[in-house]
Amino acid sequence: MNPPPGTLTGLLTDPASRAAVATDRSGHVPATPPDGVVRARDVEDVVRTLRWATEHRTPVVTRGAGTGLAAGASAHAGEVVLDMSGMDRILQIRPDDQVAVVEPGVLTADLDAAAGEHGLFYAPDPASAAISTIGGNIATNAGGLRCAKYGVTREAVLGLDLVLADGRRVRTGRQTVKGVAGYDLTGLVVGSEGTLAVVVGATVRLRPRPAEVATLAAHFDDVVTAAAAASAITAARLQPSVLELVDSVTLEAVDAARGSSLRSLGGAVLVVQCDGRGAGAEIDAVGAVVGRSATTWRSTTDPAEADDLLATRRAALPALEATGDVFIEDISVPRSRLADAVRGVQAISARTGVRIATVAHAGDGNLHPVVVVERGGTVTEGPAWDAACAVFELALELGGTLTGEHGVGLLKRTWLRAELGQDCLDLQHDLKRVFDPLGILNPGKGI
Ligand SMILES: Cc1cc2nc3c(=O)[nH]c(=O)nc-3n(C[C@H](O)[C@H](O)[C@H](O)COP(=O)(O)OP(=O)(O)OC[C@H]3O[C@@H](n4cnc5c(N)ncnc54)[C@H](O)[C@@H]3O)c2cc1C
Repeated sequence: MNPPPGTLTGLLTDPASRAAVATDRSGHVPATPPDGVVRARDVEDVVRTLRWATEHRTPVVTRGAGTGLAAGASAHAGEVVLDMSGMDRILQIRPDDQVAVVEPGVLTADLDAAAGEHGLFYAPDPASAAISTIGGNIATNAGGLRCAKYGVTREAVLGLDLVLADGRRVRTGRQTVKGVAGYDLTGLVVGSEGTLAVVVGATVRLRPRPAEVATLAAHFDDVVTAAAAASAITAARLQPSVLELVDSVTLEAVDAARGSSLRSLGGAVLVVQCDGRGAGAEIDAVGAVVGRSATTWRSTTDPAEADDLLATRRAALPALEATGDVFIEDISVPRSRLADAVRGVQAISARTGVRIATVAHAGDGNLHPVVVVERGGTVTEGPAWDAACAVFELALELGGTLTGEHGVGLLKRTWLRAELGQDCLDLQHDLKRVFDPLGILNPGKGI
């Protein structure tokens, strides 16, 4: 039994506050809500909470915006949630150095917009950029559409301000673009899902906004042909900044949500964007590749038209969520195996009778097979979960991974040994003990 929660200043214990932070967007519903939530306003709130948690041996689940898809931020009785969304200031933008210093609760799209005022951009752009926080992106090592060219969040994080489990403050990494002093603790904490430390600040890299952007949408008879075309773009040594794939099940959901008629153009679409000087020539080269198998394609350099083409992809997950309860998978495979992966997902759907839609960051080989069940159905057990597990198995068979960008969280932990092997998993637990000897930071998640 835990000590009375009231002993921690700022701990909210009313049912509505506790219920509001019990889970994320994964579809996982914890059996009980957490004991309470602290809404951090500054670093001192975080330090005080972690000192208290250490003293009382109480687990702390750090939370950004709760948009995670692996139940990494879900919390239950006996745990306290540390909500970082209120620490949301952009502290510095240094245009000459092309870096920004931010608090963790800043929304990703807000940082990108602020950088834009200086002719710069923040490259990692999860499809949730308008609703997820930089702290959550760092903790999950989030990817996104532009990561095909610019890399995932880890590539953009130069240094971190952390509060350790016992309340000590440490700074890792650097303010410079290069730097190799000591072990790369910044890289280790990125993607650690709140299990090693609480991120209270970050120095991130910005990049010059591209001078030219060209966008293309290509329609195909079926998703396997579209996936093969995506692999052909990579094999042709082209490097789009965005290379996204949307299948027929998703197109139907998008049509229903947006009143479009994309499904009538074919059973899958690829949306491709090239940027930088020569973007127009590069998109023409992409057109030559997709033209071999597409039923139709068109390209544009008009920003409004480009937004419209990309809107199909951005609308995909909300549109599928509108059709039922979903579990969004996140496997990644070698880019040459993309067609094998979508074919395998289709076979799993046919075999199990479970509806699975597929959208993919095809440029990275990162697929999101989306398991859809009727509203009120369960996605984390029963036939839907069996189908999800078959997809994990498929990813490993193809030489891929369980998770390209969403993290392991709570839901994929049972599969981790199969991917990492026992020795590697043991090493990860050893590392966890160095950072968090009492095991109070997000226990049962990530590893
Ligand atoms: C519609 C939709 C589209 C999405 N598209 C993408 C996509 O394209 N790419 C992608 O990668 N993800 C995507 N996601 C998933 C999700 O948005 C990301 O995982 C995001 O990084 C989570 O950020 P958050 O602020 O919501 O974190 P939360 O969900 O609150 O937390 C996620 C994890 O981070 C930890 N955490 C949060 N803040 C901190 C902190 N300050 N210090 C330490 N640990 C912390 C939590 O404990 C938890 O383990 C999508 C989600 C939705 C709903």
